[in-house]
Amino acid sequence: MLSYGMIPQSVIDEVLQRHDIAETVGKYVHLTKNGKYLKGLCPFHSEKSPSFTVTPEKQIFHCYGCGKGGNVIKFVMEMEGESFPEAVKALAEDAGIPITWTTVNPEEPSAFQKEKKVLHEAHEYSSKLYHYLLLNTEAAKTAKEYLTGRGFNDALIEEFGLGYAPARWDTLTLALERKGYSPEEMEAGGLLSRRQETGGYVDRFRDRIMFPIHDASGNIIAFAGRLLSDGQPKYLNSPETPLFNKSKTLYRLHEARSAIRRARQVVLFEGYVDVIKAWSAGVHNGVATMGTALTGEHAALLKRFADEVILCYDGDNAGQAAAHKSIPLLEEAGFRVRVSVLPNRMDPDEYISAHGSEPFVREFIEGAVSAVKFQLIYLRKSHILLEEDGRIRYLRDAVRIVARRDSPTERELLLKELAQEFGVSLDTLKQESLEYRQQEKLGNAGDIPAGSWNNVWNEKRSAPKNPPLGAAHVNAERQLLSWMMQDKETALLVEQRLGDRFHVEDHAALAAYLYAFYARNNDPDVGRFVAVLQDDRLERTASSIALIDIPFGERELEDCIRTIGRASIAREVERLTEELNRAQRAGDFARATQMGIEIIALEKQRKQY
Ligand SMILES: [Zn+2]
Repeated sequence: MLSYGMIPQSVIDEVLQRHDIAETVGKYVHLTKNGKYLKGLCPFHSEKSPSFTVTPEKQIFHCYGCGKGGNVIKFVMEMEGESFPEAVKALAEDAGIPITWTTVNPEEPSAFQKEKKVLHEAHEYSSKLYHYLLLNTEAAKTAKEYLTGRGFNDALIEEFGLGYAPARWDTLTLALERKGYSPEEMEAGGLLSRRQETGGYVDRFRDRIMFPIHDASGNIIAFAGRLLSDGQPKYLNSPETPLFNKSKTLYRLHEARSAIRRARQVVLFEGYVDVIKAWSAGVHNGVATMGTALTGEHAALLKRFADEVILCYDGDNAGQAAAHKSIPLLEEAGFRVRVSVLPNRMDPDEYISAHGSEPFVREFIEGAVSAVKFQLIYLRKSHILLEEDGRIRYLRDAVRIVARRDSPTERELLLKELAQEFGVSLDTLKQESLEYRQQEKLGNAGDIPAGSWNNVWNEKRSAPKNPPLGAAHVNAERQLLSWMMQDKETALLVEQRLGDRFHVEDHAALAAYLYAFYARNNDPDVGRFVAVLQDDRLERTASSIALIDIPFGERELEDCIRTIGRASIAREVERLTEELNRAQRAGDFARATQMGIEIIALEKQRKQY
């Protein structure tokens, strides 16, 4: 029933045996001992006091803050943004376990894969060459001076692997040829250009400062070159190649990934130099698009590591318009968005050069405004606020922007600010916002004046799918599952007595997985058990249940089974009573009598429990 694609169970077992969770987690998180647990700051959400725990005895981790939890494989998946097979493979390689299972491409690497491998190597080589030329040649003197003038010290040049492509036609062409690379392939890879007239090949990048661009695994896949002389284009990127897809690549994502994950926040820039300068100012979670607009693919990629995006675009009209356009795309992807409003005609690089690192971070990273605040500021540009007519139109548009926000508190605060600034009454603005929400069918939670109940809303809220936490039978289920994870006999007993009669859906699923786990002759092992779940929510629930630390007792076990059994009968009685009432109303007395008999039988059963 359970399989992991091509990976044999034996490999997964060995991976779990060979990697101690405390040691693996310890590579990313500083852990301190606290009784049976190790505690640390959660790497998956931002926090100031530790709620992240590792239990070596059970080989699981669990965060009380964000709820993430699971075994060592799950931890690596979350940490590295990898799939299950990827994480198993990485852990297996790390422990020297031979990778015997077949991957997606079982045969020889395809021609396409071979081509990509050659291009990776050629890019790596070209990058080293450009870097060497920048640091060691007379021809790069102007380039070096230019960089120094813009505040690039040696450490920055090293960290970002900057280079220089000389003002010649054949520097890279000859070097690649000497290394035995075919010029056709190098042209297809974007490193060389074809000369129209003669049919020969020449360097694509000439007299440019070179910025290597990496993919998510850290391979160099392209370059951006900034022209030193006055010509055009100022920035030249590699073309789209088998390696390089602009709408999926973000400058510096590979290196910034762990900082992004730690803060659950990413800062998006427009320019490569902005990323570098911000990095030197201490902003290590910055990335940039490839001189193109932000795409849904970019957003999805970032969502694996972050919950919040700060748009730090140029202060000019084009930059602000680009930020304005990116907000809906990012909000749709589930991000909280904030925007840095830089002074007009300044980009982040210029600001840092002129005013220094500390004011930049304080004003524009920490001080970035909420998306809606930015939209309101942006809206001012298209209205003439000196005229009454313009003010009215601005207010109307502004209220619409505010009305679209989900949070009633946020709406209230923003409307208050508008009312104060423009000297209008808050009630008027609220009324207008309410009308707009009704028109757009946005729902009116929180906007309804006290006393007038909206029945549709109330109905929607009643009848939650799962009973509230804290109910006796819910706690009993969690307690039972925790003992079942530790002891096979208990699981078998519960299977006989309760089977699938757990109330909470996830608990019923976990029980079913546990029955199956023991039926395959497994011994209790929380880490291994969690590996079979392959479901984020179930893994979280399982890991939190595994941490329940109440000693086992026969009497307590009986109490739990009884509580759950009774609750389950009570629910059945409730259902039958409803049916009985329906039958009576319909005049179907035979059926009503039948229901009555069944209810009495159940009530008897309930007492026996
Ligand atoms: Zn957490």
